[in-house]
Amino acid sequence: MKSANVTLSSLGTTVFEVMSALAREHQSVNLGQGFPDDKGPEEVRRAAADYLLNGHNQYPPMMGLPELRQAVADHARRFQGLAVDWQTEVLVTSGATEALGDCLFGLIEPGDEVVLIEPLYDSYLPIVRRAGGIPRLVRLQPPTWQLPRAELAAAFNDRTKLILFNTPMNPCSKVFAREELGFIADLCLKHDAYAVCDEVYEHITFDDRRHISIMTLPGMRERTVRIGSAGKSFSVTGWKVGYVTAAAGLLKPIAKTHQFMTFTTPPNLQWGAAVGLRLEDAYFNSLASDMQRKRDRLADGLARIGFDVLASHGTYFVTSDFRQLGFNGTDDDFCRHVTVAAGVTAVPVSAFYDQPERAPRHFIRFCFCKDNSTLDAAVERLDKHFRR
Ligand code: PMP
Ligand code: GLN
Repeated sequence: MKSANVTLSSLGTTVFEVMSALAREHQSVNLGQGFPDDKGPEEVRRAAADYLLNGHNQYPPMMGLPELRQAVADHARRFQGLAVDWQTEVLVTSGATEALGDCLFGLIEPGDEVVLIEPLYDSYLPIVRRAGGIPRLVRLQPPTWQLPRAELAAAFNDRTKLILFNTPMNPCSKVFAREELGFIADLCLKHDAYAVCDEVYEHITFDDRRHISIMTLPGMRERTVRIGSAGKSFSVTGWKVGYVTAAAGLLKPIAKTHQFMTFTTPPNLQWGAAVGLRLEDAYFNSLASDMQRKRDRLADGLARIGFDVLASHGTYFVTSDFRQLGFNGTDDDFCRHVTVAAGVTAVPVSAFYDQPERAPRHFIRFCFCKDNSTLDAAVERLDKHFRR
């Protein structure tokens, strides 16, 4: 038999699926894969349920329901001051995951270089490679995860088609500052490159930090693709409703990919997402402040046990160094060990690198978008285990 495509068939199963399966097997408290215990705003879920019962459950327009595209455009104006034409500049996708695939397949020509920042979300590299892109990886260094400006500048050249990055950033919880975005923007302008920015955690920032879209920086309106996700903004990760915003000419090839991948996204979920994006500011503020309290609750608990807890400025996640606990294995070993022996699951941060064996091996990522009782149970179990 002939072999399948090697770029994809040589990959393992994603770390999220692996660790969640292990958590189920050992009935551990799962702080690995990022999904909230919270059900999300009732009006958002009710809107989707009502639409399912009473709405038009047939193919919606390929670009997305007009109501959702209008809501995406209005939301961009409200939170980023961006003027967006909902008819030509917004595309609805089946989650940010599809959006990322559409962007990369729609923009990359084989041989184009793509700048990426490690640690990176796990879907980026396989899709870049499958699209024929040549990855140019630049690493952030823990514990501060600052942008290595000289290395980043050296990664760009005139073959650079685009930079793909994520802010607020999973897994290291960095929120890019305006100067850092300005540095990236200057490189994009200098080398005529696009910025594809995964902004799924745009509403989950802490300690008065605000998410800034690189699209708002001078010269970037026409060369940025901005990606959002209803899953993250409304705590419904199973919905898989994403949205892409880009200048009309840039969005066109992205929509061409979308039309042959999924073509459309369930209309009732699009309707629910539209209701969500129109919720008042108080909702978005409390999403962030609730999450910040959960971050503090988990981070304090982990620090009391003896983890070296790194700063988390946004997202659902906090990263910790476990070496002070006296554990001598890798981050993989640690995550398996605590799942089985302590009944708590996290994910190894090395899984967010191209070559995990060459990545830092002593950081693990905990997810804190959980009920307080879940967070407390995890801390209690880890405390009991490491106190012995
Ligand atoms: N990007 C990042 C950084 C993520 O953490 C996630 C997690 N779900 C996604 C994209 C995918 O989002 P979606 O579930 O909307 O496909
Ligand atoms: N984004 C989630 C995380 O980082 C998981 C998404 C997935 O399972 N693919 O944990």
